[in-house]
Amino acid sequence: MQTAWQNVLTAVERALGPQVFETWFQKLECRGVEGDFLVLSVPNRYYSDWITDNYRGAIEDEVERVMGRRLGLRFVADADAVSGSEDTSTDEGGELPGHFRLSPSQTFENFVVGSSNQFAQAAALNVAEAPARNYNPLFLFGGVGLGKTHLLNAIGNRIRQRQPRTRVVYLSAEEFMNEMINSLRYERMAEFREKYRQRCEVLLVDDIQFLEGKRSTLEEFFHTFNALHGAGRQIAVSSDKYPRELGIEERLRTRFEWGLVADIQPPELETRVAILKRKADAEQVRLPDDVAIFIASNVSSNVRKLEGTLTNLVAFSSFYGEPISLAFARRVLGDLGGDRSDEGPPSVERIQEVVARFFNLKVQDLKSGKRTKVLTLPRQIAMYLCRKHTRHSYPEIGSRFGGRDHSTVIHSVSKIEEAAASDADLRGRIESLERNLRS
Ligand code: ADP
Ligand code: MG
Repeated sequence: MQTAWQNVLTAVERALGPQVFETWFQKLECRGVEGDFLVLSVPNRYYSDWITDNYRGAIEDEVERVMGRRLGLRFVADADAVSGSEDTSTDEGGELPGHFRLSPSQTFENFVVGSSNQFAQAAALNVAEAPARNYNPLFLFGGVGLGKTHLLNAIGNRIRQRQPRTRVVYLSAEEFMNEMINSLRYERMAEFREKYRQRCEVLLVDDIQFLEGKRSTLEEFFHTFNALHGAGRQIAVSSDKYPRELGIEERLRTRFEWGLVADIQPPELETRVAILKRKADAEQVRLPDDVAIFIASNVSSNVRKLEGTLTNLVAFSSFYGEPISLAFARRVLGDLGGDRSDEGPPSVERIQEVVARFFNLKVQDLKSGKRTKVLTLPRQIAMYLCRKHTRHSYPEIGSRFGGRDHSTVIHSVSKIEEAAASDADLRGRIESLERNLRS
């Protein structure tokens, strides 16, 4: 029996690679066969959930091949017996395996902390260690690829490590909407509500900005929020906009500010280098310091690009059969084009687009002669950003904003500079915008 199991494991390792194998299969033990089931012991339920969801088919196929017989899988955890694969959630009385969507590789352990993200990381860790105690909701905000999704997953993973039975639901706002629409279509709203408002213990919703303008989903989310918050359950969301900038109703926006709003800034050079080295270690790639610094200096806007560049470099290195050296990286990254968009200034058009999107306006409105209050501030901010981030002169900027006079531009720029000096809110908006410009 054990030899057969060893053969299964060897095949699984070959099929799934050493990293997956080490994470999920090394700690499995075979306890024998019971009826039509192979009984496996796992350290905790988290393992069995994950294996069931992701690898059950692969293991069952392999078992059939090696043992000549199709067997289901049944898991037992050290402390308690957990359900078999024929029924993944008997004790939950229905379907709520939202945590299956958690990415097990995004944890606090492999989140590199630097001054750009330490506040958000500390807040997330606090939420994970003491859900619904201090910061509820937790609102994470930051630009693309800066670690919002990673931190939400880290919260979910840590909570389930500590208390494997906690009903954690992680999903994107878009998935929330789709599930709601399907529930409406198939007349299953009662179940949808039961799942999100009652049975869910920790709700993690990614990219909440997706809900802007989606009125009925927002309505549903609002009631979900109230039900969970009222019942003392933890909610954490992420967004690429500050709550106040979200195009959603006041009543939900203010609720987002009840707890803690934590922002993530683009990482500074040292953090970028540390992230690269961590990633290289995880993939067992030798990455010399000078190469790490070279990449980190060329790719500054977001961590996803940083990782992508390293992945490309590794792929090229194995393709050419050359070790990773500074000369090699320069050559290859030259080919890839690096991350040049970070280096050049943004164009006036780009600034106008970003500002218009941010304030839910049309670019045309920024250029128009209309002087309503809703337009004036965004327009002044856009001019200020053009002056600060492009090399255009005042008259040039004026001409790009519907042919305004240079004195209007000068006035706008100094107005924003003055206001920003005393208005933290305005500074926050400008920082968000600058972040959007970089991403
Ligand atoms: P966002 O959701 O903010 O767009 P992600 O969380 O998806 O960004 O992060 C993009 C990638 O960068 C992911 O692979 C994530 O694991 C990684 N990453 C981001 N920040 C860090 C960090 N501080 N340490 C390690 N990896 C990070
Ligand atoms: Mg994300």
